[in-house]
Amino acid sequence: MSSSLFSDAVLAWYDQHGRKDLPWQHAMTPYRVWVSEIMLQQTQVATVIPYFERFMQALPDVGALAAATPDEVLHLWTGLGYYSRARNLHKSAQRVVEDYAGDFPRDLEQLVSLPGIGRSTAGAIASLSMGLRAPILDGNVKRVLARYHAVAGWPGEKAVHDRLWLIAERYTPHSRVHHYTQAMMDLGATLCTRSKPSCLVCPLQSGCEARMLGQPTQYPHAKPRKQIPVRQCLMPLLMNPDGDVWLQRRPDSGLWGGLWCPPQLDDQLQLQSLLAQQGWEAEEPQLLEPLRHTFSHFHLDIQPLLVRVTAGHGVAEAGQVWYNLRQPSRLGLAAPVKKLLSRAELTI
Ligand code: SF4
Repeated sequence: MSSSLFSDAVLAWYDQHGRKDLPWQHAMTPYRVWVSEIMLQQTQVATVIPYFERFMQALPDVGALAAATPDEVLHLWTGLGYYSRARNLHKSAQRVVEDYAGDFPRDLEQLVSLPGIGRSTAGAIASLSMGLRAPILDGNVKRVLARYHAVAGWPGEKAVHDRLWLIAERYTPHSRVHHYTQAMMDLGATLCTRSKPSCLVCPLQSGCEARMLGQPTQYPHAKPRKQIPVRQCLMPLLMNPDGDVWLQRRPDSGLWGGLWCPPQLDDQLQLQSLLAQQGWEAEEPQLLEPLRHTFSHFHLDIQPLLVRVTAGHGVAEAGQVWYNLRQPSRLGLAAPVKKLLSRAELTI
């Protein structure tokens, strides 16, 4: 199929079946497209929609995001995971305000120079909200193109990645690029799905090599398997007599950077030192149900402890808080911490 036949088929399908009512498709601006694109990385549309709406209500434009506190941004992101995305979003908003007077640059290289914006996200912002001819290659599009050309290999390998970009570039049309971009995302999300592609109703079926080979789900090839290690930690929920739990703000870089968390300890000796250091008296720790949280590169087995602090606790210092479980303040919490705090609430 020539590149124009390819894009014509995709656009004709879009006119009939494409998604036209997603929240970020209304009043489309670079800001709205950008926030939605970042949220959609590793996250399904249905999950993203309520987060997106809350985010837009609280921070409707790039100026509002730039002026927000890191806690506000992380709070709005709580539950979406991959928190570096939120931190980069915040930093990029500040750069757009400082360096570009609040207008997103219309140049792909300048877009890519902003924290957290890769080539595909830049392409999505440029094509969807500015109508510029810029290809995208997110996970959905990679899958469609890898199948269409039966591209062998894992897209994380440079040679495979580069080949897919060349293909993406070739098929991106000169007109209606915003519809084409949306259509390719929709095709991957709704028809050419990971495990059950609907080839019989696909507009690309006549030229799709993976379908002709009878093996669409073999493409793109999976990442070579590697076992991920398991790490363990203790997480004491230090609770004062009012039922508030002591949280610390984690350093900006590293795991759960900038989020609020109970102390993460190696063993009970560290817990005793912490209590001594704070000058707190506490009851015997109570074991709570363990929890496993899986990051991309390791599992973290968390053993939570309920530790009732009976004396010596005072006002929290900077970077610490006695977190009121019944009237929670607007802080960024990692998903497993949120879960642990709701369990702790049951013990008050
Ligand atoms: S024909 Fe099947 S495998 Fe090929 S692009 Fe369409 S849905 Fe995907």
